[in-house]
Amino acid sequence: MRESSEILERLVAGDRAALARAITWAESGDARFRDVLSGVNEHVGRGWRVGVTGPPGAGKSTLTNELINAHRDAGRTVGVVAVDPSSPFTGGALLGDRIRMDGRTSDEGVFIRSMATRGGHGGIARATVDAVDAMDAFGLDELLIETVGVGQAEYDVVGAADTVLVVLCPGAGDGVQALKSGILEVADVLCVNKADLTGADRLVSDLEEAVELRAHEPHEGWVTPVVSCSAGKSEGVDGVLAALASHREWLEDGRLEEHRKTRRLA
Ligand code: GDP
Repeated sequence: MRESSEILERLVAGDRAALARAITWAESGDARFRDVLSGVNEHVGRGWRVGVTGPPGAGKSTLTNELINAHRDAGRTVGVVAVDPSSPFTGGALLGDRIRMDGRTSDEGVFIRSMATRGGHGGIARATVDAVDAMDAFGLDELLIETVGVGQAEYDVVGAADTVLVVLCPGAGDGVQALKSGILEVADVLCVNKADLTGADRLVSDLEEAVELRAHEPHEGWVTPVVSCSAGKSEGVDGVLAALASHREWLEDGRLEEHRKTRRLA
């Protein structure tokens, strides 16, 4: 208890090492995390949570890096949790390294953490939410949760975010496969990355059509926008940010509390 209250104090005071420790506890399901969290509850819920998911190679890490840079340029602090639910050992760490490789290592306004997920642990969604709660309590403004793949486990991980950004790219199975995997159900914003490649326009229109068809079914009243960008060329990222911002505005117009209640993990 003494240790957890010390971590709690340091966390709220902005000590990065304390944040790292709290996340390690969250990750391993250490009971001390609950003591920390119960002490910071009133600080949780201020940051904005965006889940970034999509098939491997779509450009999630590249785009995440662009989003980090844009937020930092606008003076906002950023926390990133990178998680690979399907690969119990190294995947998550590799993902985090890939984002980190692009710089910002010495930037105090960015905190990047990859979750080392345990095989069969089953609690990865919980651990991820806990890690994000810790970053939130620490005071980071923008909280990005990035997963490596697309599937039920990944949806569970990003599902507790305020906004779910699904990143796709032309080629490799294309939109049809993505649609089959139930991506539309989880996406608040659909992003076609690699707009510089052939087939991007087609994918955008396929997705728009699918969203249009689905717009007739009730889905909290939000019509998922389809945006495109070339994250690798730093092009079109403003459009992605604008779509994310409009979903945030829509939620903050009286819908946020209910939305968070619906998406909260049991
Ligand atoms: P992730 O697995 O979804 O995180 O994808 P990555 O961000 O690692 O990107 C996968 C590959 O796509 C890398 O080789 C990137 O350099 C490349 N890539 C990312 N964005 C773009 C883009 O806008 N255009 C093109 N042509 N390639 C891109």
